[in-house]
Amino acid sequence: QKHQILVSACLLGQAVRYDGRYASRGHKRLLDLQAAGLIVTLCPEMAAGLPVPRPPAEIYRGQVLSDQGENLTDTFDRGAEIALKLCQNKKITMAILKENSPSCGSSFIYDGQFKGNKIRGAGKVTDLLRTHGITVFSEDQIEEACHYFETIN
Ligand code: SF4
Repeated sequence: QKHQILVSACLLGQAVRYDGRYASRGHKRLLDLQAAGLIVTLCPEMAAGLPVPRPPAEIYRGQVLSDQGENLTDTFDRGAEIALKLCQNKKITMAILKENSPSCGSSFIYDGQFKGNKIRGAGKVTDLLRTHGITVFSEDQIEEACHYFETIN
């Protein structure tokens, strides 16, 4: 049994983003891995019960706030817990997640001002997965991620 990779659902053509769209139809390498049954997709925000579309949210001082000022921290934390449980149940030790998201971001997130400014940081899912030893790559690191995947299989 080969290891599998957790991938943000919006990176594989699923229209689950806050704006009702997907982020990518799917990078060729990811589509190949998916066809081989080596990918598990999840949208943690939808898994936590949020609808599509939904208001944009950003992290400010550790809290997740919608652009309307609603505090969504508990919901986003629940989504992160669901992602962690899924990885643990399936013995998944690596993930490729959507950059810049308050859930899935791994190198950059928006700064909480809803002005499009990015800062170094990670989303709730990435933070929790990393705390539990799961290696998280972004969609900008697919070649590195695939190389790493070969080393663990
Ligand atoms: Fe994509 Fe993650 Fe946002 Fe869901 S929570 S839309 S998977 S970036």
